Amino acid sequence: MDKILRIDMGAEGGPKVTEEPLGDYAGLGGRALTSTIVSKEVPPLCHPLGADNKLVIAPGMLSGTTAAMSGRLSVGTKSPLTGGIKEANAGGQGAQVLARLGYAAIVLEGKPQKDDLYRIHINKDGVKVILDNSLKLLPNYELVERMRYQYGKKITCLSIGQAGEMKMCAATVAVTDMELRPTRHAGRGGVGAVMGAKRVKAIVLDDSETKMRSPKDPVKFKEANKRFVDGLMKHPVTGRGLPKYGTNVLTNILCEAGGYPTYNFKEGRFAEAHKISGETQAETENQRGGPGSATHGCHRGCVIRCSGTYYDKDGNYLTKQPEYETVWAHGGNCGISDLDAVAMLDFLDDNYGLDTIEMGVTIGVAMEAGLLKFGDTEGAINLVKEVGQGTPLGRILGAGAAVTGKVFGVERVPVVKGQALPAYDPRAVQGIGVTYATSPMGADHTAGYAVTANILKVGGFIDPLKPEGQIQLSRDLQIATAAVDSTGMCLFIAFALLDQAETFQALLDLLNSFYGINLTGDDVVALGKKVLTMERDFNARAGFTAQHDRLPEFFKKEPVGPHNVTFDVKDEDLDQVFKW
Ligand code: SF4
Repeated sequence: MDKILRIDMGAEGGPKVTEEPLGDYAGLGGRALTSTIVSKEVPPLCHPLGADNKLVIAPGMLSGTTAAMSGRLSVGTKSPLTGGIKEANAGGQGAQVLARLGYAAIVLEGKPQKDDLYRIHINKDGVKVILDNSLKLLPNYELVERMRYQYGKKITCLSIGQAGEMKMCAATVAVTDMELRPTRHAGRGGVGAVMGAKRVKAIVLDDSETKMRSPKDPVKFKEANKRFVDGLMKHPVTGRGLPKYGTNVLTNILCEAGGYPTYNFKEGRFAEAHKISGETQAETENQRGGPGSATHGCHRGCVIRCSGTYYDKDGNYLTKQPEYETVWAHGGNCGISDLDAVAMLDFLDDNYGLDTIEMGVTIGVAMEAGLLKFGDTEGAINLVKEVGQGTPLGRILGAGAAVTGKVFGVERVPVVKGQALPAYDPRAVQGIGVTYATSPMGADHTAGYAVTANILKVGGFIDPLKPEGQIQLSRDLQIATAAVDSTGMCLFIAFALLDQAETFQALLDLLNSFYGINLTGDDVVALGKKVLTMERDFNARAGFTAQHDRLPEFFKKEPVGPHNVTFDVKDEDLDQVFKW
């Protein structure tokens, strides 16, 4: 990982490839690297779909090594959805493979004059950018099959579906998993639309005949990795809950806590949640069987293994095991309790290249507008199909919940900085409300997952229904997350890190023995603060003010049952989150 690959898609005479040493970017990875490049090189006031924006794709500091859990990929840009800086994070094989190919980042820049479409192929012998209009408007699954046919099965694909080509604000960059399926997505903020604007349909990576990255001190590195894995395995969430039920284990937990947004955030419990819970999902998957029905990792080196495969009633592959956020967004949030329908919606989103959170919330807003009734399963599937087909209504929905709310005159639109709220009601889980309001990314649960101390009692306990303690909680978690997102580690390691000091030390020892450095806990905090400061500075230069760090007004006025609470954290306290 000692070089940066730049591809100028707008160069005269066709795309131009250059490789350069890391220079000022040395020592950075993942989100720290994407946010630094975007912050330094992208004019904050540029149009996100214009030639001046860049799409930066970066593995983490430990990606491509034997360190467990180190395969997360960061995709950074100026977001077409929020208008601010964006880092969207994906699993799948992309980070491991890109790191082994020696690249700290791919930077797509410029913009072609014409509408031609390109695929990029990267292997140990170099980089080829190939004009290929035969790929136009292919969905992700078919596209990946084409690439497999052309390049063989040892590849990894980063790609966009129709949504990215149509430059929709809900468009993702898909990343293939270990089964070479496009099931992992850099989902949030419309990063796929930026790839579409660069006219890049697919980046095909082949790391055949490349080696693992080797640590400075292999003995200490191996020993630290063992301690790290042992720590993950002994923690109840990473060692038992996630491997057994996947992320959807949260459905029953959040319903019980009254923090499960239902019917477009009108209620905090969904009466039919048991039909779509992680327990029901696991039982359904186990009954239907099929290859890979047990949970498994989404990339090489994952030991938590929270992913799975979902088969239909006839035992045919339908999609990967839908994540909690997806089951909530397309399920309870829309009053839908049919697991097969939710799985179908998950497949459609993956295939068109759409963010499942943004789409589920958008359909909830469309339901609130009266376009269809809550619980209308068939209607919801048809709406997502309209998005994939790019009909006029589909184009509106594909622009996300904020635009859809405006078009149909809806007052209750759950977005911050234009990005849809995820699966935790901020009135009943007030710590996550602080993160939604203040994260530079827009509403994003992963940016500071306060559900830990609010609901799961990981890293202590802070009453989720009261404002006290939530600012400090969200601040600490946002700092820690910005640092973890830079390592390439899956964020789920945080459960063990928060509760077990020795597992956090093992992570530090992995970094130190790999790079021959002496990072301390304080250095990690400093890194997280530096990344957040840079991101907020970009947003300020893009025109964001304190007024953008707020939840929609209805969360302060409208109590949600069963606890009948409003979001009570004061605006002036929200303004203290980044004053450290
Ligand atoms: S824990 Fe889950 S999301 Fe994280 S790397 Fe493993 S399978 Fe992927």
